[in-house]
Amino acid sequence: MSHSPAGRFAPSPSADLHIGNVRTAVLAWLFARSTGRRFLVRVEDLDDRTFPDVAQRQLDDLAAVGLTWDEPPEYQASHEGRYLAVVDELTARGLTFECFCSRKDILQAPRAPHAPEGAYPGTCRNLSDDERAERRAAGRPPAIRLRSDTYEYTVIDLLHGPYTGVVDDFVLRRGDNVPAYNLAVVVDDAAQGIDQVVRGDDLLPSSPRQAYLAALLGYSQPVYAHVPLVLNAEGKRLAKRDGAVTVSEIGAESAMAQIAASLGYAATTLDGMLAQFDPQRLPREPWIFPQLS
Ligand code: GLU
Repeated sequence: MSHSPAGRFAPSPSADLHIGNVRTAVLAWLFARSTGRRFLVRVEDLDDRTFPDVAQRQLDDLAAVGLTWDEPPEYQASHEGRYLAVVDELTARGLTFECFCSRKDILQAPRAPHAPEGAYPGTCRNLSDDERAERRAAGRPPAIRLRSDTYEYTVIDLLHGPYTGVVDDFVLRRGDNVPAYNLAVVVDDAAQGIDQVVRGDDLLPSSPRQAYLAALLGYSQPVYAHVPLVLNAEGKRLAKRDGAVTVSEIGAESAMAQIAASLGYAATTLDGMLAQFDPQRLPREPWIFPQLS
């Protein structure tokens, strides 16, 4: 791929960004700009719980705090074929299988030997042609899963160091034909020349699956930095019910001042923070958002 290297922020437009999401976007921008990378924003709108008006407000909020990006945002829903072509490629290589399991089936199935907790138990991995035909006839449209040949994979994270996590036969395409997040993110990062992935550390456990899939597809592993989340006073993820948490509620200037302070910067502008940016000095603990009660 001929793109120059890039970092990115890739929100799902399911709800307005809260200050924690914006803080992650700011960090992604700082990581990219401080290493001479381009910065891109991608709208992850494949899921049917996402909304165009929310996507627009997310972009407006990112612009309001001063973030800049180098290409018009890509919308995942506008190129589903890109992901489905990769599913076809993997299928042609014998690296997929159809899965007819419901969520309940998966929870109730005995775990395959060696399969780590939470991993797909392997129920549909080795169905015979007859068994498959029978399940198809029963009417449940199959999901397509990756036929993985490992149980774990290691990624290198700038903040967490080497991180080894579960790789199972994860879903590539859902039963309703929608490309799965783990597939779309890997395919898009490669297609857009993204070689630096900065995002919330709730996604660290997904990164071994994604890096393994990238390797299968011949893409190189991006540089990862999974940054701490923002929590409420109870130590739970910040959410709408925590009060004034969005950029429009807080105001862009005040949001940026609070984000900068939470990261230990005296400067409150992006350029001011960029001048002093040092990944090794970032707080490693979640930021507890001070709420007005
Ligand atoms: N769209 C995902 C989210 O909003 C993030 C994907 C990613 O950064 O890899 O949680």
